[in-house]
Amino acid sequence: MAKYTDSVCRLCRREGQKLFLKGDRCYSSKCAIDRRQYAPGMHGQSRGKKPSDFSIQLREKQKVRRIYGVLEKQFHKYFVIGNRQKGMAGENLLRLLERRLDNVVYRLGFAASRAEARQFVNHGHITVNGRRVDIASYLVNTGELISIKEKSRDINRIKEMAEILKDRAVPAWLSLDVNNLTGTVINLPAREDIQIPIEEHLIVEKYSR
Ligand code: SF4
Repeated sequence: MAKYTDSVCRLCRREGQKLFLKGDRCYSSKCAIDRRQYAPGMHGQSRGKKPSDFSIQLREKQKVRRIYGVLEKQFHKYFVIGNRQKGMAGENLLRLLERRLDNVVYRLGFAASRAEARQFVNHGHITVNGRRVDIASYLVNTGELISIKEKSRDINRIKEMAEILKDRAVPAWLSLDVNNLTGTVINLPAREDIQIPIEEHLIVEKYSR
């Protein structure tokens, strides 16, 4: 399976906006996009042609895929599932992505980025309803309890994150118990809970070609 190994900051620069892929660094003056506001590569600073509709749709899809850290094949699978569900295909796609366990761990503040959250899940530090779940793409459901495994709470990085949890705002569809390092899925996410500037209709148009 192909894995992106280059600097993730290049992805933000390519999309022309912050995708918040690096945790704390994204909020600091070290953020690469604040320092170099042009696309990476030798043609990055040239003005280029007016982008076509296809290119605009493609960029929107790539942006969302990169925010959630999902590979193309899996991203398309989410689209197909979302398209079969009732309601708007684009909204369904975003709601599915938002329900991924790695995203929920990040949203609860247990990790500084989705990439770090994915690592915590893959390494078996996360439980759902008391049982270890090490699949980052696991889709959470209403009423489920997401927690950091007891034995993992002594890991320095997890301790660091736990210390700043009280300052963390969680989305309305989740609730956080800072003292017990647990989070509960109160509802499945609604579109308005996903506060990322995304024009999902462009992704639907891209896949409908
Ligand atoms: Fe993107 Fe974060 Fe890198 Fe800034 S620091 S370019 S927001 S990944």
